[in-house]
Amino acid sequence: MWQIIRDVGLIGLLITIIIWLIQKLLSGQGQIGSLKSQIDSLKEEKSNFKQEIQNLKGENTKLQCEINQYIHKDKLLSKFQFNKDCGIWKHKETGLDYCHKCLIEKGLESPLRKNKGTWHCSVCDSYYHEPQGDIDIAAPDYDPFG
Ligand SMILES: [Zn+2]
Repeated sequence: MWQIIRDVGLIGLLITIIIWLIQKLLSGQGQIGSLKSQIDSLKEEKSNFKQEIQNLKGENTKLQCEINQYIHKDKLLSKFQFNKDCGIWKHKETGLDYCHKCLIEKGLESPLRKNKGTWHCSVCDSYYHEPQGDIDIAAPDYDPFG
C-alpha cells in the first residue's frame, strides 16, 4: 500500500517536473521571440543610421564644395581692390577693371570694356557708369562664412 502511495507521489513529482520544464521551455521560446523582435528592430535602426550617414556624407560633400568656393573667392578677391565710386573691381597688378557681378556671384574674372565713361561686361551684359556727383556705393557685403 505504501509502495503504491510512494509510486503515485513519485509520478506526481515527475509530472510536476515535466510541467515545470515545459513552462520553462515555452517561456524560453517567448524570450527567443522577443529577442528576434529586438534584433529586427535593431536591424531597422541600423539601416536608418546607414541612410542618415549617407545623407550626412552628401551634406558634408556639399558643404566642403561651398568652403572650397569661399576659399577660391577669398584668393580671387585678394588680387583685386574694390572701387566704391564705380562699383567695379580693379586688378592690383594689371590695373584692369573687372565686373563686380561676375566676380562676386560667379567667381569669374571678367574684364570690363570702357567706352565713354561706361564699362560693359561682355559675360553678364552689366553696365557700370562713372559716378556723377557724390554717389557713394558701399563696398560689397562679403562674408566668406556668412
Ligand atoms: Zn559680368
